[in-house]
This record gives sequence, structure tokens and C-alpha cells, in this order.
Amino acid sequence: MLCIVTESFNFMPEYISSNTFKMIQNTDQHQKWLAVVTFSALALLLVIHVLGVFKAARLEERIFNQRVAMAMKEARDEIGIRLKTCNQMNDYLCGHHCTHTVALSKTAELDSILHSKLEIHNINLPYTFSVMDAELAARARQGSSCFQQSLNGLLAHNGVKIQLEFPDQSKFVRAQLSSMFLLSVVFILLVGTSFVVTFRMFRRERAMMQRTIDFVNNLVHEFQTPLANIRLATGLMRKMPVCSAGGKGNDYLLIIQKERQKLQNHVENILQLATIEQKQLKVEVVDLAELTQAVFDQYQPSVEALNGRIHLEVSGDFFKVKGNASQFEMVWNNLIDNAIKYSVSAPEVTLRLSQKDSKVYFSVADKGVGISRPHQALIFDQYYRIGSGDTHPVKGFGLGLYMVRKVVEMFQGKIEVESSHGKGSTFIIEFPVC
Ligand code: ADP
Repeated sequence: MLCIVTESFNFMPEYISSNTFKMIQNTDQHQKWLAVVTFSALALLLVIHVLGVFKAARLEERIFNQRVAMAMKEARDEIGIRLKTCNQMNDYLCGHHCTHTVALSKTAELDSILHSKLEIHNINLPYTFSVMDAELAARARQGSSCFQQSLNGLLAHNGVKIQLEFPDQSKFVRAQLSSMFLLSVVFILLVGTSFVVTFRMFRRERAMMQRTIDFVNNLVHEFQTPLANIRLATGLMRKMPVCSAGGKGNDYLLIIQKERQKLQNHVENILQLATIEQKQLKVEVVDLAELTQAVFDQYQPSVEALNGRIHLEVSGDFFKVKGNASQFEMVWNNLIDNAIKYSVSAPEVTLRLSQKDSKVYFSVADKGVGISRPHQALIFDQYYRIGSGDTHPVKGFGLGLYMVRKVVEMFQGKIEVESSHGKGSTFIIEFPVC
């Protein structure tokens, strides 16, 4: 009977969940700040706006006063012209005795002069007017809505003034500004509301994203046990006579093992991503010459099996850097895997290790499909893959180069790519020597 040992890999959810928890905490903090900053800015905007409206009201009032003063000056000129031909106007304005009919007609004439001059200056507010002598003018009410025009020099005696009053002046100014004020308050409220709505939508989407990440993490974790079981089972089956070397059973077994290995690599990639994101890597001194030689030896048979060639060129004598050996191995593997994966025919890969000044350089060059310039800055982003129209269809998740960049940057290194479409690519990594 086949006995399958069930292995458990419980470290995975802890890595992911604590990492995720930190991520959520950070995002929450950012969100709170964003909300505080946005609402403070909106409140400030409202205050500035109210102050602006008051300023505009004062300006509007000053313009109104100027227009009335000009209209009254013009009315005075008009009265002057009429006085030359009409003595009754002089009597009426000076307060001399005149008949009721004359008084009525002169009041109407004065009203029409004032009305036409105000109209010219675009003032269509209801008004009242009165003619007053010096004594009356001195006692008259002087409000902001009262305007006086002296008729000195026109009449038989001085001191006569025309007084205009606009009872609805402040209402008029307020009406003119209130529509503007209301409109902008509505817009500020609209911006505030749309911010709240967007904020809520963002939170909902983030919660959804979180659930998806948790789901993927659980799924990957759950893959570990079946994969371990398959590895064990295939190992045991290899020893059975039906699967002896050269037989059909052995061929099927090899397919199962190859596919299991692929799946295992994907799972490990995702596990490694969690470890890298958590930035809890052991720092040690790594000899890149030893590492590169070991990786070269490991890849040589598989590249040759594809009728390809892999070269190693070393120049310099000190290649020790601070880092993490297993993560560096992952970086080297990812770059070489890509060089093989994205080669059109038999892979032609060159590994170069060199040392200059206080830097160690490692590069992987291939003669594959190459990467066009617009994609070069993006291939190091998470999940970024170049569309199948640009490369031959190779399976992947777009995680490899993202992890490579993360590890390189974590140990104060730099990575860059030199490539031209159709001619191949060279990935160059630089680390400070220790
Ligand atoms: P994956 O290979 O799983 O898609 P990577 O992050 O390793 O993810 O690579 C991202 C993309 O960059 C790949 O989809 C591929 O289009 C491009 N790429 C990476 N390495 C090479 C290379 N050596 N030659 C051409 N294209 C490459």
C-alpha cells in the first residue's frame, strides 16, 4: 500500500498575513491623512471664498456709488440746461411759491431727468428723491444709500441739494453676489461629496483586493501539501517494476515529475515574494564568484540539452558583497531562466562577472526576442508582462523581474536593462563590494 506523508507548511499564512496587516495599517494611516488634508483644504477654501465674497460686495458697492455720483452729476448738467429756458424750474428748486400744478409737473420733470441718467448708468433700482435747502440738507439723514448733489452755481441762491435714496441698495448688492456665492458653495459641497464617495469606493475595492490576495495566498498554501504528496508518490512509483527505465510507465512518470516541478516553482515564487515583501532577510557576506560558478554549472547541461550555449566570463578577483545567498541565487536563476525562455531558437547566453572600483557587476546577456524601449522601464513592475504580440507566447506571471529588482535594491544594488527589439537583451546588476 502506498503511504503518503502529509506535510504541512504553516509558515506561509503568517508571513502573508503579518505583511498584509502592515500594508493595511500603512494604507489606513495614509487614508486618514488624505481625508484630514482634503477636508481642511475644503474648509479653508470655503473661508477664503466667504472672505472673497465680502470683498466683492464692498467693491460692488463702491462701483454702484460711483455710478450714482456720475448719474447725478449728469442730472445736474441737464437741470442747468433746462434752467436757461424755464424760470418755473428755478422757482420750484429754490422753494419759491409755485402753484400745485407747476410743482407737480416740475417734480415729474426732475424725476424723469434722474431716471434717464440712472438708466444710462445701468441703475434700475427703485429710488426716492427730494430737493432740500442748506438747512434741511444739514439735518438730512446721511446713510450709505443716500446720495446728495449740490446745485450751487445753477440757481438764484446756493445751498440747494438734490437727495437720492435707494431703499433696496443693500438687497440689490446681496442679490447680485448671493447667486455667485451659492453656486460656489454648491461646487465645494459637490467636491466634498465626490471625495467621500470616491473614498468609500476605494475602501470597498481595497477590501475586495485584500480578500483576493488572501484567497490566492490560501490557495497557494493549499497547493503545498498535494505537491509534496505527488513528489513522494512519484518517488515511490519510480521504484516499481512497471515504471522501470525505458518503459512507457517511466515516460509518464517523468511528465508528472516535470509538471510537478513547474507547479512547485510557481508556488515557491509566490512564497518568496512574501518573504521579500516582508524585508526580513538574513544579511551575510556572499561571494558572487562562487555563486555564479555554481549557477553556471547547474544551467550548462539544460542549455546544452536545448542545443544552446552558455558562457561565463570573469574579470577581477574580489567579488564579495553583502546580501543573502539564497535570494541572490533566485535573482541569478530568474535572469538566466528569462534569457532561455525569451530566446527564439537555441539559447545563446553569456554570464559576465566583473569588478571595478568598489563595485561588482553581474550581467546576463541573450540573443533573444529583445525588449522594445517603452517596455524597458515597466518590466520590473509587479505582474507586468509584454503582450504576446511582442514576444513569443511564453507562460509566466510577471513576478520574476519584480522580485529581482526588490532583492537587488534591498542590498543597495542597482539593476538596468539594455535591449533592442529582436536583437537580445542584457540585464546588468551592480552591487557595492563589502
Ligand atoms: P515572466 O517572465 O513570468 O512574464 P518577468 O517579471 O520575469 O515575468 O518578466 C516580465 C516581462 O519582461 C516578461 O513577460 C517578458 O516579456 C520580459 N522579459 C524579461 N526578460 C526578458 C528577456 N531576457 N528577453 C526578452 N523579454 C524579457
